[in-house]
Amino acid sequence: MELIEKYEEGIHDLEFFSADFKNGSMMIDNKEYPIGYISCCAANISKEKMDRLVVYGGMMKQCYFRMKYFGYDRKEYREIYAMAKEMLEMMKEYRVFDCFDFDGTLKLLENCFGEKSLDEYEELIFMKEQISKQKIEKPDDKTVFRMVSIEKKMKMAKMVISAFSYAAVDTANFSTVVQNFVDKIMKKDARQKSELAKTAFEFFSDETMMYFFEQSNPSKNDMKGFSISSRQITVPVVIESDGDFALLKRVYFERLMDFYVTDLFEGLSAGHYLWKCKVCGKYFLMQSAYKQLYCSEVNPEYGVPCSHIAKHPEITQEKMKKQKKSDSPYYVLWKKRANSIRKNKSLGKYDEVISAKAKKLIDDYFDRTSYDFDYAKTQYMSDMELSKIYEEAIKN
Ligand SMILES: [Zn+2]
Repeated sequence: MELIEKYEEGIHDLEFFSADFKNGSMMIDNKEYPIGYISCCAANISKEKMDRLVVYGGMMKQCYFRMKYFGYDRKEYREIYAMAKEMLEMMKEYRVFDCFDFDGTLKLLENCFGEKSLDEYEELIFMKEQISKQKIEKPDDKTVFRMVSIEKKMKMAKMVISAFSYAAVDTANFSTVVQNFVDKIMKKDARQKSELAKTAFEFFSDETMMYFFEQSNPSKNDMKGFSISSRQITVPVVIESDGDFALLKRVYFERLMDFYVTDLFEGLSAGHYLWKCKVCGKYFLMQSAYKQLYCSEVNPEYGVPCSHIAKHPEITQEKMKKQKKSDSPYYVLWKKRANSIRKNKSLGKYDEVISAKAKKLIDDYFDRTSYDFDYAKTQYMSDMELSKIYEEAIKN
């Protein structure tokens, strides 16, 4: 029987990695991401960046085939090592790969392609030759054990290069699928969990669509494309912090596509989905059925949130649907506080000046949630405590 794993023991290498799932979020390498975040990053990769990634993926695929069919060659292995390191360095610029342990992957590469390992591969090849020419006696157990472990490492080197190539191809294929799926979600205006489930069912049962994805695979002749069924190994894992224990679900993935598909579908079942901002064209992650139309980020061109830009047809060149205040997931709390402030004023608990100041404060906090995602998630709730608001209003 296997022991229950500890939180710190997760593997996040590119070649084999795990993610821990807990109440609508995912923990990787001590960072917490809302489920669906990875899908959002994949959908937002620009065409130029995607092309670059696919080119590297193609080169790694050639490397893999050369390793597989022509066997070991020192010069070649050195070149492959250099290319893999170059690709890894490039991958750091992609948000979708944020959750990977780059240092760990670099160590893995060093272990497979470092000079010491190349010496070992040559030792193994020499040994095999000697045995086949019957130049040496049957090796002892210790030597056999050593040779077996070197052979394993050689196989691992091939798998790692294959994983690099799949990192590019899976990302490209998945990104195409997600972008098309979001189109469908938006056309159907599907935001409730059951609408999302129905839309997913229709979309992923559409044979023409699936054929289109098969054909759009940049490596359709020799690499697997999009697959909706993800293969994974699930184990329980325990996390401890300051004497508090909690159980999480740890999932190990063999292939990046399996991870992506899990992120998308676990997200959908939690009511998380993507929407495309019509102002800046970026995809953003929604975690509720509120009808948010524009992304929460500050538009780099205008320095204000996209929802503000949408109110100005002179900029957008067309009349855009206005983002209603009630479309925001942070509206309910704002409304509650606005009601309390009004009530307290009419009861005479606070005078007109204090009440106006308090109202201004909650409006400012609410506005900030529309462009400051971190603030919205971590600070908004506490800033909106009524006692704090009055304290602040009286102070100023
Ligand atoms: Zn936007």
